[in-house]
Amino acid sequence: MSENMNDIDFTHDPAQRSWVTSANADATDFPLQNLPFGRFRRAGEAWRLGVAIGDQVLDLRAAMAAGLPLDATLGSDVLNDFMALGKAARVQARALLSRALAAGSAEEARLRSCLVPQREAEMSLPCRIGDYTDFYTGIHHATTVGKLFRPDNPLLPNYKWVPIGYHGRVSSLGVSGQQFRRPLGQFKGEGDEPQFGPARRLDYELEVGVFVGRGNAQGEPKPMDEAEDDWFGMVLLNDWSARDVQAWEYQPLGPFLSKSFATTLSPWVVTREALEPFRVPFVRPAGDPQPLPYLDSPANRERGGIDITLEVWLKTASMSEPQRLTESNFRDAYWTVAQMLAHHSSNGCNLQPGDLLGSGTQSGAQPGQGGSLLELTGGGKQPLSLAGGETRTFLDDGDTVELRAHCQRAGARRIGFGVCAATVLPPQSAPVQSH
Ligand code: MN
Repeated sequence: MSENMNDIDFTHDPAQRSWVTSANADATDFPLQNLPFGRFRRAGEAWRLGVAIGDQVLDLRAAMAAGLPLDATLGSDVLNDFMALGKAARVQARALLSRALAAGSAEEARLRSCLVPQREAEMSLPCRIGDYTDFYTGIHHATTVGKLFRPDNPLLPNYKWVPIGYHGRVSSLGVSGQQFRRPLGQFKGEGDEPQFGPARRLDYELEVGVFVGRGNAQGEPKPMDEAEDDWFGMVLLNDWSARDVQAWEYQPLGPFLSKSFATTLSPWVVTREALEPFRVPFVRPAGDPQPLPYLDSPANRERGGIDITLEVWLKTASMSEPQRLTESNFRDAYWTVAQMLAHHSSNGCNLQPGDLLGSGTQSGAQPGQGGSLLELTGGGKQPLSLAGGETRTFLDDGDTVELRAHCQRAGARRIGFGVCAATVLPPQSAPVQSH
């Protein structure tokens, strides 16, 4: 337990600088203190693993060939085997990479040729994702959306006791840069009978995605302290949603085709250790139930939360620059990452290295802090005014949604998540079907 309490070490020292000069810029998301992992290639080359540093990628396979003594799993073309090793291996690799990329390092001479400019790198999903589960930990989102349907009783009675989730779709996961067609689906229009055609209420959801590190054997739940050590890292996640399809299909088994047409992730996995300086207490509002023992631990109470500022930006086809729509913070989540893992495995379900957990939409407490258009427009009733005179209730074809995130506090180096952007394309042409 005590080893969980604080994992701050020299790699978090805000005074440290890198010989990769772009990593020392105030505004970079990827200073020496971040060191996120991703999977990349240049056109015509093989996929391999890399670490973002400033505006460059350190090619790990090339670095190992040049003599950097990283664990052999980092020479793989996917991150799963390294994820499976657990926390000690992450801490060790982080220390080694931090020393090698620090200003004055003797490694500079042999690692310089192992850098690839990020603008030349094509990115992919970082690992084989066996399963994807989407949770619902944003209590302000759950409350606002619940109010649209049940003004007097927005939260269902289970919400404050059990981390709600459902099983998502892996095949349509993509990374930033993804373009996808507006989905077709069945929904209720103005008449009594449903129709089938292009979704009319296409929305985004501002979420973080968590990758599982070390897994658990089937039948052997992960207790809270193991769960805290065994999540690998985080990305941004846009859980695109067709609200008209969702409203018609979701009862009684939950979302299905309203979500499974596309989900977009940011490509750089910010490790649990990089987020260490930004941990905050997990606090329940007065009067709310405390978690049951299997979802509780001293470490979780002391530092289960994470202070991550989350943003949504929209760029319509006629805008030259994206416009910011929302800012919220992951520290407001009702359940922590460790609670998500512990709950998920509590029935004996085996989690595997590289499994993905979505946090659910992260909205703030204020009306302008909705993490989806459904919230920002009051269920599509109050159009949003955009710069340049356009309005939106839901997304138009040609709209690009960008999620961004960063962590910042006095005494720590600011780190960021990069961008998670994707664009809505027109639907496959198909006539609207109705009777
Ligand atoms: Mn979601």
